[in-house]
Amino acid sequence: MTIEELAKKIQGVGLYRNKAKYIIDTCHKLVEEYDSQVPTTRKELMRLSGVGRKTANVVLSCAFGHNAIAVDTHVFRVANRLGIASSKTVEKTEKDLMEKVPKNLWSAAHHWFIFHGREVCKARKPRCEECSLQKLCDYYLQT
Ligand code: SF4
Repeated sequence: MTIEELAKKIQGVGLYRNKAKYIIDTCHKLVEEYDSQVPTTRKELMRLSGVGRKTANVVLSCAFGHNAIAVDTHVFRVANRLGIASSKTVEKTEKDLMEKVPKNLWSAAHHWFIFHGREVCKARKPRCEECSLQKLCDYYLQT
Protein backbone atom coordinates (compact mmCIF):
# COMPACT_ATOMS: atom_id res chain seq x y z
CA MET A 1 0.00 0.00 0.00
CA THR A 2 1.28 3.49 -0.76
CA ILE A 3 1.29 6.35 1.74
CA GLU A 4 -1.48 8.04 -0.28
CA GLU A 5 -3.66 4.89 -0.25
CA LEU A 6 -3.24 4.46 3.49
CA ALA A 7 -3.86 8.19 4.11
CA LYS A 8 -7.23 7.88 2.36
CA LYS A 9 -8.23 4.97 4.61
CA ILE A 10 -7.38 6.78 7.84
CA GLN A 11 -8.46 10.31 6.95
CA GLY A 12 -10.94 10.39 9.84
CA VAL A 13 -8.06 10.76 12.31
CA GLY A 14 -6.06 13.91 12.92
CA LEU A 15 -2.79 14.43 11.05
CA TYR A 16 -3.64 11.43 8.89
CA ARG A 17 -1.06 12.22 6.20
CA ASN A 18 1.81 12.27 8.68
CA LYS A 19 0.45 9.18 10.41
CA ALA A 20 0.17 7.29 7.11
CA LYS A 21 3.81 8.07 6.42
CA TYR A 22 4.88 6.98 9.91
CA ILE A 23 2.91 3.72 9.66
CA ILE A 24 4.41 2.80 6.29
CA ASP A 25 7.93 3.69 7.49
CA THR A 26 7.37 1.66 10.65
CA CYS A 27 6.13 -1.36 8.69
CA HIS A 28 9.28 -1.31 6.55
CA LYS A 29 11.47 -1.01 9.63
CA LEU A 30 9.66 -3.86 11.42
CA VAL A 31 10.09 -6.18 8.43
CA GLU A 32 13.68 -5.21 7.73
CA GLU A 33 15.08 -4.86 11.25
CA TYR A 34 12.77 -6.70 13.63
CA ASP A 35 11.83 -9.89 11.78
CA SER A 36 8.28 -8.53 11.39
CA GLN A 37 7.76 -8.43 15.16
CA VAL A 38 6.86 -5.32 17.17
CA PRO A 39 9.66 -4.80 19.71
CA THR A 40 8.72 -4.91 23.38
CA THR A 41 11.11 -2.39 24.89
CA ARG A 42 10.56 1.36 25.13
CA LYS A 43 14.00 2.07 23.69
CA GLU A 44 13.34 0.02 20.57
CA LEU A 45 9.78 1.27 20.14
CA MET A 46 11.05 4.85 20.23
CA ARG A 47 13.31 4.09 17.28
CA LEU A 48 10.22 3.60 15.09
CA SER A 49 8.89 6.47 12.98
CA GLY A 50 6.64 8.89 14.82
CA VAL A 51 6.91 7.00 18.11
CA GLY A 52 7.75 9.12 21.14
CA ARG A 53 7.69 8.18 24.78
CA LYS A 54 3.89 8.56 25.08
CA THR A 55 3.14 6.24 22.16
CA ALA A 56 5.77 3.76 23.30
CA ASN A 57 4.14 3.70 26.75
CA VAL A 58 0.69 3.13 25.21
CA VAL A 59 2.02 0.16 23.22
CA LEU A 60 3.87 -1.26 26.23
CA SER A 61 0.78 -0.91 28.39
CA CYS A 62 -2.08 -1.79 26.03
CA ALA A 63 -0.40 -4.30 23.72
CA PHE A 64 2.10 -5.98 26.00
CA GLY A 65 0.53 -5.59 29.45
CA HIS A 66 3.53 -3.79 30.96
CA ASN A 67 3.07 -1.23 33.71
CA ALA A 68 3.42 2.20 32.09
CA ILE A 69 1.75 5.60 32.29
CA ALA A 70 1.39 7.35 28.95
CA VAL A 71 0.99 11.08 29.52
CA ASP A 72 -1.15 12.63 26.80
CA THR A 73 -2.88 16.00 26.93
CA HIS A 74 -5.75 14.70 29.14
CA VAL A 75 -3.51 12.86 31.59
CA PHE A 76 -1.25 15.92 31.84
CA ARG A 77 -4.12 18.35 32.46
CA VAL A 78 -6.11 16.25 34.93
CA ALA A 79 -3.11 15.08 36.96
CA ASN A 80 -1.81 18.63 37.33
CA ARG A 81 -5.21 20.14 38.13
CA LEU A 82 -5.82 17.53 40.80
CA GLY A 83 -2.35 18.11 42.21
CA ILE A 84 -1.24 14.50 41.86
CA ALA A 85 1.43 15.93 39.58
CA SER A 86 2.95 19.36 39.78
CA SER A 87 4.82 20.08 36.62
CA LYS A 88 4.94 22.01 33.38
CA THR A 89 6.40 19.09 31.41
CA VAL A 90 5.03 15.69 30.44
CA GLU A 91 8.27 13.99 31.51
CA LYS A 92 8.03 15.29 35.07
CA THR A 93 4.28 14.61 35.15
CA GLU A 94 4.96 10.97 34.25
CA LYS A 95 7.59 10.82 36.98
CA ASP A 96 5.22 12.35 39.56
CA LEU A 97 2.49 9.87 38.64
CA MET A 98 4.88 6.93 38.81
CA GLU A 99 5.81 8.00 42.32
CA LYS A 100 2.26 8.50 43.54
CA VAL A 101 0.20 5.85 41.74
CA PRO A 102 0.83 2.20 42.74
CA LYS A 103 2.72 0.46 39.94
CA ASN A 104 0.04 -2.17 39.37
CA LEU A 105 -2.45 0.65 38.61
CA TRP A 106 -0.33 2.69 36.17
CA SER A 107 -2.00 1.36 33.03
CA ALA A 108 -5.51 1.60 34.45
CA ALA A 109 -4.83 5.10 35.80
CA HIS A 110 -3.81 6.22 32.32
CA HIS A 111 -7.29 5.29 31.07
CA TRP A 112 -9.06 6.80 34.11
CA PHE A 113 -7.32 10.16 33.60
CA ILE A 114 -8.19 10.18 29.90
CA PHE A 115 -11.83 9.30 30.56
CA HIS A 116 -12.14 11.93 33.28
CA GLY A 117 -10.45 14.52 31.07
CA ARG A 118 -12.73 13.85 28.13
CA GLU A 119 -15.98 13.65 30.06
CA VAL A 120 -15.61 15.97 33.07
CA CYS A 121 -12.31 17.80 33.47
CA LYS A 122 -12.42 19.32 30.01
CA ALA A 123 -9.63 21.59 28.85
CA ARG A 124 -11.51 24.85 28.43
CA LYS A 125 -14.47 24.39 30.72
CA PRO A 126 -13.96 21.80 33.44
CA ARG A 127 -17.33 20.65 34.79
CA CYS A 128 -16.26 21.14 38.41
CA GLU A 129 -19.78 21.43 39.80
CA GLU A 130 -20.53 17.86 38.65
CA CYS A 131 -17.11 16.43 39.51
CA SER A 132 -16.86 13.83 42.25
CA LEU A 133 -13.23 14.79 42.87
CA GLN A 134 -13.87 18.40 43.97
CA LYS A 135 -12.73 17.88 47.54
CA LEU A 136 -9.48 16.31 46.39
CA CYS A 137 -8.69 18.79 43.65
CA ASP A 138 -6.09 21.58 44.04
CA TYR A 139 -7.48 23.50 41.07
CA TYR A 140 -11.01 23.48 42.47
CA LEU A 141 -9.95 24.40 45.97
CA GLN A 142 -7.80 27.28 44.71
CA THR A 143 -10.24 28.84 42.23
S1 SF4 B 1 -12.90 19.55 40.31
FE1 SF4 B 1 -12.80 20.52 38.29
S2 SF4 B 1 -10.63 20.83 37.86
FE2 SF4 B 1 -10.80 19.34 39.54
S3 SF4 B 1 -10.73 17.34 38.56
FE3 SF4 B 1 -12.88 17.91 38.79
S4 SF4 B 1 -13.43 18.91 36.86
FE4 SF4 B 1 -11.18 18.86 36.98
